[in-house]
Amino acid sequence: MQIVKSSFIIFVFIQILFSCGSSNGESNNKKIVSIGTSTVLAHSYSNTTKINTKHLTLDLDIDFVNKTVYGVARHEMENHGSDTAIFDIKALEIQKVTIGNGNEHETDFIIGKKDDLLGQPLFVKIKKDTKFVNIYYKTTDKTEALDWLDPKLTEGKKYPFMYSQGEAILTRSWIPIQDVPSNRITYSANVKVPKDLLALMSAENPRNLNPEGKYHFEMRQPIPCYLIAIAVGNIAYRKLGPNCGVYSEPELIQKCKYEFVDMPKMIGAAEKIYGKYQWEQYDILLLPYSFPFGGMENPRLTFANPTLLAGDRSLVSVIAHELAHSWSGNLVTNAAWEDFWLNEGFTVYFENRIMEELYGKEVADMLAIIEFQELQSEMKTINEGEFPEDTQLKLALTNRNPDEGMTSVAYVKGAFFLKTLEQKVGRELFDKFLKLYFKENAFKTVTTEGFEKLLNTELLKPNNITFNTKEWLYAKGLPSNCIHLKSQRFEDVQTLADRFASGEDLFKVKKSKKRKKQKKSVLTRDKFSTQEWLAFIRHLPTKMDPKQLQKLDDKLNFKGWGNSEIQTEWYVLGIHSGYKGIKPNLKKFLNKIGRRKYIAPLYQALSENPDDLIWAKKVFIKAGMGYHFVTRSSVIEILYPHKEHVETKK
Ligand SMILES: [Zn+2]
Repeated sequence: MQIVKSSFIIFVFIQILFSCGSSNGESNNKKIVSIGTSTVLAHSYSNTTKINTKHLTLDLDIDFVNKTVYGVARHEMENHGSDTAIFDIKALEIQKVTIGNGNEHETDFIIGKKDDLLGQPLFVKIKKDTKFVNIYYKTTDKTEALDWLDPKLTEGKKYPFMYSQGEAILTRSWIPIQDVPSNRITYSANVKVPKDLLALMSAENPRNLNPEGKYHFEMRQPIPCYLIAIAVGNIAYRKLGPNCGVYSEPELIQKCKYEFVDMPKMIGAAEKIYGKYQWEQYDILLLPYSFPFGGMENPRLTFANPTLLAGDRSLVSVIAHELAHSWSGNLVTNAAWEDFWLNEGFTVYFENRIMEELYGKEVADMLAIIEFQELQSEMKTINEGEFPEDTQLKLALTNRNPDEGMTSVAYVKGAFFLKTLEQKVGRELFDKFLKLYFKENAFKTVTTEGFEKLLNTELLKPNNITFNTKEWLYAKGLPSNCIHLKSQRFEDVQTLADRFASGEDLFKVKKSKKRKKQKKSVLTRDKFSTQEWLAFIRHLPTKMDPKQLQKLDDKLNFKGWGNSEIQTEWYVLGIHSGYKGIKPNLKKFLNKIGRRKYIAPLYQALSENPDDLIWAKKVFIKAGMGYHFVTRSSVIEILYPHKEHVETKK
């Protein structure tokens, strides 16, 4: 326990803790966990059922020299008579707390015991009619949400860059806040940055530099606080349609324009399926390579990974995914992280519908099959691990990091549940139900149980349909009625993979006698799509003769393909096969890219062989400095499972 203000006497503190210890008045659908003498919601210390933020005003000064945000978080609150307001903080330095609007005066506060996962509760003494609480603070070098990049880690190499990642419970590490998805807030922000840099947030955004480096932001629609996001850097803007565009470093803006050209069509397709886009503007911000995810659905401003710039628009389904979150996740939000599948399962389902609308069912099915293969492999790992119950859609994450629930179970099993349901009831009825689900719950949060109830009363019962909903939601593994997708194009490349693995030369150029023309070899680079090549590589035996892999590289250059999906798949196969020829490219890849989806399986494969593990640790010492906290901690868990000390901090 760290007591910050010495004049604040101990007995008051005990009183506060006791008053927070009562669970009276907490709503039934929220999980209560006892931590020491205090009582908290799962993953948050806040007492939102007694007093909750309605609107947040941030005054932020972004200091790149000290890699610090100096801030005031002004909470306008709805107080149901509470004399304590509890906020979540993690690795923040709290300087003072005041109450009042305009006429502020200092009040006492206490910072509770530190928990490695949850951070600390910040208890603020207030009056029963207090509505405004202002917290003066600064971030520290332990702030997990913010990634501060030196110029060398950006595309232009001239200016620094900074961005935040709030989901799941990292917002508390850069803003003192009630960090629960169930409390929706609006926010405004005044942000000061160096004059030559542009600031953007998940709000109404500027397109040009302000000569004084001062920016104002408004987010008028209520959002869960994990969606508050900021980015600052040398950033340009290009319009892509009437209500959409893309931000990126100027060096990549043309590539972005090419890659994301279908965005207006995607918005049109999404609106056709589930109703009007509710956030006015939809922009993408392409971040530097350290960004740990493919995309993050920050409202009005999707954060995207530069690995999406494959040059052939083959990875744009990630954009369809982030756009789909404008409905599932952002408009209708999971009430707790145990209901995460409501955010992601719906989004993967919806993403696939958008892809089908734009590129046809054959392409959409290929994408879904690729994801289903990943689900099967991850379910196997989960089953063999410490928490086999994590293959359920409704999760139990009490006292666990919510990130542990971010597996393909929530994403793909969730989507296949909805696909199976759609097949059972028919698309017309299902779409009607989903439209109702989004309309009824717009700007609200939903639990799995709430969804189940709505499904029964609005879709299944009125149409006399029986469905094993409970098995899908609350049982482990995949129910036997799970929809089965097939792709002829995949079967064709898998046959080729079998032929190649059995030693057949598929690169032999045959001469046609009649036309005296040369026939192309069976395997050429432009013959198949990214997804078909993935299916081809995945279908090869998990361990191959390195000479055969070398042959594929000589002809097709998988190791330097320029598409991260293909490269990752290829490197994993290469590592398992002891194919040394990939090492220089692999090293470059690990040094450049910080997206966890790619990096983690590579370090995992390397960790399985003692020599590779030594090599991986050497690479990580340098490469790890360019990763975001999220990726870095995942890699540390893989390379140092016994928690040896590792120095990777920037
Ligand atoms: Zn998502």
